Amino acid sequence: MLVSTHGDITSGLGVVEDDAVRLTSELIRIDTTNTGDPDTVVGERAAAEYVAEQLGDVGYEPTYVESGDRPGRGNVFVRLPGADPSRGALLVHGHLDVVPADASEWSVHPFSGAVQDGYVWGRGAVDMKDMLGMSLAVARRFKRENIVPPRDIIFAFLADEEAGGLQGSQWLVANRPDLFEGATEAISEVGGFSVTFKDGVRSYLVETAEKGIAWLKLKVRARAGHGSMVHEDNAVTKLAAAVARLGTHRFPIVMTDSVREFLAGVTEITGWEFPEDDLDGAIGKLGAISRIVGATLRDTANPTMLTAGYKANVIPSVAEATVDCRVLPGRQEAFERELAEILGPDVEREWISLPPVETSFDGALVDAMTSSITAEDPGAHVLPYMLSGGTDAKAFQKLDIRCFGFAPLQLPADLDFASLFHGVDERVPVDALKFGTRVLNRFLLSS
Ligand SMILES: [Zn+2]
Repeated sequence: MLVSTHGDITSGLGVVEDDAVRLTSELIRIDTTNTGDPDTVVGERAAAEYVAEQLGDVGYEPTYVESGDRPGRGNVFVRLPGADPSRGALLVHGHLDVVPADASEWSVHPFSGAVQDGYVWGRGAVDMKDMLGMSLAVARRFKRENIVPPRDIIFAFLADEEAGGLQGSQWLVANRPDLFEGATEAISEVGGFSVTFKDGVRSYLVETAEKGIAWLKLKVRARAGHGSMVHEDNAVTKLAAAVARLGTHRFPIVMTDSVREFLAGVTEITGWEFPEDDLDGAIGKLGAISRIVGATLRDTANPTMLTAGYKANVIPSVAEATVDCRVLPGRQEAFERELAEILGPDVEREWISLPPVETSFDGALVDAMTSSITAEDPGAHVLPYMLSGGTDAKAFQKLDIRCFGFAPLQLPADLDFASLFHGVDERVPVDALKFGTRVLNRFLLSS
C-alpha cells in the first residue's frame, strides 16, 4: 500500500508528533558524552539499546552492532522494504553521541531533557537527538500502520560522530558495508532548518556540501639545554613562531558552486548584493548564520593545542601543536602548498584528514525535500548551502552515497540556531520538532 497516493497523508499525525517530542526528550536523558578520548565515552550502548527497544516495540527486528576497537560503541539499524526494490535505498542516519556539557553553566540540567517554555532542553537537542526523535517517530508510524515507502529506507543510529566517526561511521563503512547495501542517497543533520533573512520570508537550508577536516599535528625538534644559557636552537620558540604565523594567516576567498548558489538564492529572495570585493562584509547581513557562511568562503587553520617542556629550567628538545584545519572542496593540494610555505621546512607535519563533501542541488530527492517543506510552509524558499563543519556524510560518500543535510525544523526568526550547536542551554522548539516530523513523514513517503 502506498499511502501517499490516496487521501490525507498527514491524518493522525498528532500522535507521531508527540512521539517525536517524547523520544527526543528521553534520548537526551541518556548521557552519551563523547569527549574524543575513546576510553571515557559513555552511554552509546544504553542509547542504542533504547532505540532498538523503541523500534522493536512496533515490530521491527533491529540489528545491534558495536563499532571500533572498544566495547560499548553501540549502533542500531533497521531496513524498511519499499514498494520498488529495484531502486536504491535511502539512508536516514543520525549519531547517538553528544559533546560534553558542564551542568554549572546551564539553566536546566543538560541531561534532563526537560520539556518547558515550548522547548525540549538539553545536550543533543539540536545535535542531533532531535532528528533521531523525529526519524524514530516516523519509522515507528510506518511500521505500526503497515505503510510501504516508495523504496527501501535504512534507518541508522550511530556512535562516535563527534570524534570524526573513526570508531563509528568510518569503522562501519570499512568493516560492515553490508549494512548499507544498495543505499544511493542519504539524509542526516545540519540542514533543512529555517532561516529568516527578512521579515516574513523563510528559507530552509539543505546541506549539499561540507568542508574537509584536516587535523594537523606540528612538531619541532631542536637542541635540549639548560634554561639559564644563551640558546639559539629552541624548539618552543620555533614552534610558537610557526603557530603564530599560521594562526594569523588568512587564506584566500575561493567561491565554490554550493556557496555561489546559496548567495544567488539569497539575493533573489532579499535583493541583497554580495559583491566579490567585499564578501566578508556583505556576509554579515545574513545574521546568525553568517559565521557558518563566512567560514565556507575560505580554508581555515586554527591552532587549538600546544604542548612542550616539563620543567622551568630545562629547554625541551621537542614542542608540539595541534591545528584544526578546514579545507574547501577542491582545495586540498593548494591548501597544503600554502601551509608548507607558512610553516617552513623545520616543522614536521602529521595529518588526520577527512575529505570534503559536495553534491549538486538537483534531482528527484531534492524535489521531494522542497515539496515536503513547501507543503507545510507555503511560500518558503529552499536553498543549498555548505556546512563549515563535518558530519558522518564524510564516511558514507566513500560508498558513493549522495549525502544531504536534511533534518527539517521551522525555527523562530530570532533564535540563534547556529550557536546552540555544542552551546550552553542547547534546546529545540517543540513546534519545530512537530513541524519537522510532518515534513519528514511527507518526504519519506514521496522520495
Ligand atoms: Zn552532530
